[in-house]
Amino acid sequence: MSGLLKIDNVTISFGGLTAVDSLNMTLAEGSIRALIGPNGAGKSTVFNLITGIYTPSKGQIFFRGRLINKLPPHKITGLGIARTFQNIRLFTNLSVIDNVKIGHHCRSKASFIDALLRSPSTKKEEADIQRQAMDCITLMELADKADEMAGNLSYGEQRRLEIARALASNPSLLCLDEPAAGMNPIEKETLAKMIKKIKKMGITIFLVEHDMKFVMNLAERVTVLDYGKKITSGTPAEVQRDPAVIKAYLGK
Ligand code: ADP
Ligand code: MG
Repeated sequence: MSGLLKIDNVTISFGGLTAVDSLNMTLAEGSIRALIGPNGAGKSTVFNLITGIYTPSKGQIFFRGRLINKLPPHKITGLGIARTFQNIRLFTNLSVIDNVKIGHHCRSKASFIDALLRSPSTKKEEADIQRQAMDCITLMELADKADEMAGNLSYGEQRRLEIARALASNPSLLCLDEPAAGMNPIEKETLAKMIKKIKKMGITIFLVEHDMKFVMNLAERVTVLDYGKKITSGTPAEVQRDPAVIKAYLGK
């Protein structure tokens, strides 16, 4: 099986630092894969490589068999890869629904600013975008807050709104960078339930997360990075008892 996403021997260096080193990974379609590792291991860099923010110094990245590592970010979004960022990036003085509509425009447009300035060409297009944005916020249980300013949402709701916005680009691969960071246990439980629902819709999920319990409950396979190198990959149970993982990550 070739997989939905294939990372083939990818390396990226910043000056003397090799942030990701000869990484090989294949994500099966419809699965939840976690990427874990200590701070600075290279996890966010992997997402930046997949989404075209960085170009590998070496190696190739394939999505549905197509080479994507030379494409600009908006083209990669257009092919069906969406992501959230480790730090919340919302337009806090725009409404919840408008934040999500921007996600829709991002599928075809290069920047958020383009998306903001561009008006839909037809009434039908506007209605479709509105309906689709409502579907995304309904899925993330934010429908009753559609007209609220994003900045007025609780922290957990803001993180869910970011996922709703990513979903608005209609992805088949959703990359979530520490989506549960800073959440309380109840917020985490709600989020886990939603991630499972997104998976049931057929969307493949690539999850970077620090909370081991959260990862172990969701992911079918876990890949562990340390200093940019893959130290192991396996089921949550396999990874948890791997001595190299305990040394690199759990022991810290
Ligand atoms: P993680 O997400 O696992 O905590 P990152 O992927 O953010 O780690 O970072 C991995 C390493 O790469 C870190 O040492 C970080 O400082 C470095 N790094 C990431 N992006 C850049 C960049 N644009 N320029 C220089 N160093 C970077
Ligand atoms: Mg990170």
